[in-house]
Amino acid sequence: MSGVVHLVGAGPGDPELITVRGRRLLQQADVVVHDRLGTEGLLPLCRPGALLVNAGKAPGDVAMTQDEINQALVDHATAGRSVVRLKGGDPFVFGRGGEESEACAAAEIPVVVVPGITSAIAAPGAAMIPVTHRAVATSFTVVTGHEDPTKDEEQTDWQALARVPGTLVILMGMGRLARIVAALIDAGRSPGQPAAAVMRGTTAGQRSVVATLATLADACAAAGIGSPAVVVVGEVAGLGLTAGPLAGRRVAVTRARAQASDLSVALRSLGAEVVELPAIAIEPIPGGPEIDGAIAGLHAYDAIVLTSANGVDCLFARLRDHGCDTRAIPAQALVVAIGPATAERLAENGVRADVVPERFVAEGILDALESHDLDGRSVLVARAREARPELVDGLRGRGAKVDEVALYDTVAVPASPGDIDAALAADYVTFTSSSTVRNFLGLLGPHERARADGLRVASIGPITSATAREEGLEVHVEAAEHTIPGLLSALLGDVRTV
Ligand code: SAH
Repeated sequence: MSGVVHLVGAGPGDPELITVRGRRLLQQADVVVHDRLGTEGLLPLCRPGALLVNAGKAPGDVAMTQDEINQALVDHATAGRSVVRLKGGDPFVFGRGGEESEACAAAEIPVVVVPGITSAIAAPGAAMIPVTHRAVATSFTVVTGHEDPTKDEEQTDWQALARVPGTLVILMGMGRLARIVAALIDAGRSPGQPAAAVMRGTTAGQRSVVATLATLADACAAAGIGSPAVVVVGEVAGLGLTAGPLAGRRVAVTRARAQASDLSVALRSLGAEVVELPAIAIEPIPGGPEIDGAIAGLHAYDAIVLTSANGVDCLFARLRDHGCDTRAIPAQALVVAIGPATAERLAENGVRADVVPERFVAEGILDALESHDLDGRSVLVARAREARPELVDGLRGRGAKVDEVALYDTVAVPASPGDIDAALAADYVTFTSSSTVRNFLGLLGPHERARADGLRVASIGPITSATAREEGLEVHVEAAEHTIPGLLSALLGDVRTV
């Protein structure tokens, strides 16, 4: 809808926690003005060509003032563009959504609000802290901790809040945590009352601590918990609820940081403690004669084969560099995705995969193409630089003219000794590709390598398992279906037996 400003709540951080309406509006918008916090995972949904404006205020680096944000919303809407103002959590919970609505109303721009799941409830919830609980807390109060409790002129009445029964939820409180808890204790809350802080709730980087009011600030400092976090004060913080079949298990995730979140979030929602040790990073290859030639000649291919979701991302990024969109993929071409995650990423970009093999490995693609006549056909295989040769050799063996284009490199990333130690103390280590195995082991010194033998190894499929065995690891769990859900169900099966 042109000329309208939609104030859309993005939810607390997990990109799946936006509303269906919010997601649709985001996909359709001409202009998206977004915050820094909690919206990153959603921006890939914006349509190619949409103008993305980062209004986020990085600490110490003020990107846009509130007046500038208001003005940008009014200007774009006045120019007839459909505008989404994407805000973390709910737009009207400490989101300045009210001020933005007033500015639009003053300029006679219609505003439509799409609520979001607020971190005030979702972050505690993700750490299994219910903000109300029968017989324990029948109300909850949400306050900002942004104001200074030692200043007289502040609006937050900590004395009164200390007396309100029920759960106290404090947003933006980490910078002043020590002073806030002291003010609450001074005003009569018991120092021994349970209190918790949940940082980056619902995201792959979620961390939390449970302590008492008196010990919370020190516990946060010791656990490295800082902003953005929600603080919960009250008996509900001490219920000690744990959930899920993986409760009490620590699982190391070795995927590249950008890809790790789906696995980490799923593991955490099953109750596991997750340690992310991204042994590899994905580095897109920025272009060059090989890629440019393939894209210029894209219309002439009979088949296009993609062997990973990363490959899809990189291919569409290069298409955008060339000013093309998905229409550059010829309608008559057979689009082949190695597995469901790759097909899903294609679908997110508006392209339907014609073929998804039953086995999500290179040989599976060859089997799935068994009934297709490839003789003399031109095939583009778009993938990582260090890929196995079987796919291309197999296609050539059947007479296809294959162009192989490397879209990205997987490179090793260094890790801190603390992260390595945490991963080696895990119950399981998960490997989702051969490169995660090699690079994980590459991070370890000889002493640490010996400790790795004590981990239970969970592998996504036979190729990854073979690499692990070649590297001297025993493989305890192998996914029957070579996908992240397949890996999770194999892991759950193993947990029941050990
Ligand atoms: N409108 C947002 C709140 C904006 S104020 C909402 O409804 O959630 C920003 C504060 O929200 C942060 O300082 C932090 O206290 C909290 N916050 C936002 N996302 C969070 C998350 N994923 N985990 C923990 N706290 C979060």
